[in-house]
Amino acid sequence: MKYTVVKCMNCKTILYKEDFNKERITKSCECGEITVSTQIIENSIYPWYVTVSHTGARPDIYETNERG
Ligand SMILES: [Zn+2]
Repeated sequence: MKYTVVKCMNCKTILYKEDFNKERITKSCECGEITVSTQIIENSIYPWYVTVSHTGARPDIYETNERG
């Protein structure tokens, strides 16, 4: 299985996109610069979308085959 990693460049916290598997989940990295959440868009064919926002440096986003 492939995992999509969202890694904070400041505190090195790793969040996995696959953990955002239902509506209304919000998680931040340890330093708070990166926030990943699920958001509902009305009339969309998908029940939710995973969004990534950041206040500092852009996070490193990449795919991996296994979770660390
Ligand atoms: Zn951080």
